[in-house]
Amino acid sequence: MAETVTQSAFDEAALTQLEDGFRGQLVRPDDPGYDEHRKVWNGSIIRFPALIARCAGVADVIAALRFAKETGLQVAVRGGGHSFPGLSVCDGGVVVDLGLMKGIRVDPEARTTRVQAGVLLGELDRETQAFGLAVPSGIVTHTGVAGLTLGGGIGWLMRKHGLTVDQLVSADLVTADGELVRASASENSDLFWGLRGGGGNFGVVTEFEFCLVPAGPAVMAGPIFWPIEDSPRLLRFYRDWIAEAPDELMTIIVHRKAPALPFVPTELHGKLVVSVIVCYCGPLEEGERVVRPLKSFGSPVLDLCEPKPFVAHQTMFDPSFKHDWWYYMRACDVGELNDEVIDITVDHARRIRSPLTAFPIWQGGGAVGRVGDDETAFHGRGAGHTFNITSVCATADGFDEEREWVRDFWSALGPYHETVYVNFLMDEGEERVKQAYGPDKYERLKALKRHWDPDNFFRLNQNIAP
Ligand SMILES: Cc1cc2nc3c(=O)[nH]c(=O)nc-3n(C[C@H](O)[C@H](O)[C@H](O)COP(=O)(O)OP(=O)(O)OC[C@H]3O[C@@H](n4cnc5c(N)ncnc54)[C@H](O)[C@@H]3O)c2cc1C
Repeated sequence: MAETVTQSAFDEAALTQLEDGFRGQLVRPDDPGYDEHRKVWNGSIIRFPALIARCAGVADVIAALRFAKETGLQVAVRGGGHSFPGLSVCDGGVVVDLGLMKGIRVDPEARTTRVQAGVLLGELDRETQAFGLAVPSGIVTHTGVAGLTLGGGIGWLMRKHGLTVDQLVSADLVTADGELVRASASENSDLFWGLRGGGGNFGVVTEFEFCLVPAGPAVMAGPIFWPIEDSPRLLRFYRDWIAEAPDELMTIIVHRKAPALPFVPTELHGKLVVSVIVCYCGPLEEGERVVRPLKSFGSPVLDLCEPKPFVAHQTMFDPSFKHDWWYYMRACDVGELNDEVIDITVDHARRIRSPLTAFPIWQGGGAVGRVGDDETAFHGRGAGHTFNITSVCATADGFDEEREWVRDFWSALGPYHETVYVNFLMDEGEERVKQAYGPDKYERLKALKRHWDPDNFFRLNQNIAP
């Protein structure tokens, strides 16, 4: 693969200067490991950067950004590499890869943690759960803390404890000018507002500080499955059941073909099913009581909802979203699961072709909606449900057809679209980014961008043009 890259004609003297003292690793197209390090999670994104700067610390980040500026190369910034549209890798430019920056320090007394920008969600849970604590984050352990946080961060604990950004205390950021600044409620507070949802538009965050919340260590959690034929009735029942749900309860609906995994009965393999995945983050007995009506609905074909370690539940989706598979996704928030939305959903779920396609519908509400909409750049706190219409194929085979299915489904939901979560956007253009923030916040973010990055040096992101 590496030989397909045209060697960039950048000034070798600038590279020599970058190499001088660089603590991490600089990887060029001819170096061993280039292919491994240029790849991102989504296998359908195939790009060839001129240089991958695997930074070991803040000084490396500053040096890599200076190099990119001096050579005029485009910059892609990578935390965990999970951008759906592959915004953390570019052709012919510099990838500022933070994956080596793995420092995590937990202060169990103060209930805070400092987390470097290369940490993945599972690594953070590992450290915080040692003390029965957590940063509310996402549902797949190999996702990066950095990109997820900068977009908002939704997950199993959000209805009880809010978004990831709602627990953010401060962030250290290297600006386009190569300066290190801190953003918090008391320092650069406008920037702090913008970082809580505004993505990678303002600079490279090298370290986050979060408050920790109690979580588990055991939770009542897991999926319950029914045949797809039950979906229309189940979703109507579910809608009523969650109407009075306590904040401790978070659920996600998934329609898919049942995978051939050891815990799935053979007769279900490949059959379309609907599942409700539960996480109750309060006392186990309470969780059992709250979940009982759902478990009693109809005749589930498989019930894996039981007490288990929170970290085990966090890994549940990992095998469904493996690295290197081909992904396409469109997203929207809807206010409610009304009859029309349910019918559109079931109709499209029946048309899933790929054995790997699995699309989550997230429950909203709870603590997320109680934070004032203006308090953070994140928009969409009023979302009733977030549709994350994802097609999954192991290779390019069948990818185009499955992508068309995503687009059809998303368009059919058009009349019910409300907000959209910025971290669930593909490369959809400025209007969609604007929709993700709403017109007022978008204007405020533009003003911030003009202040912190007037030349749009950081533009490979859900870009807010200055
Ligand atoms: C399998 C999977 C599961 C997901 N689950 C969830 C979920 O449960 N909840 C949720 O909220 N989201 C979820 N997402 C969406 C996810 O939040 C975004 O894809 C996010 O961008 C991933 O962050 P990353 O660091 O891994 O990505 P990267 O691809 O490394 O980065 C994405 C973008 O973020 C910016 N960025 C990354 N690091 C930095 C940094 N240090 N400083 C400045 N900018 C930076 C850059 O603009 C970059 O282009 C999921 C995505 C995937 C692929």
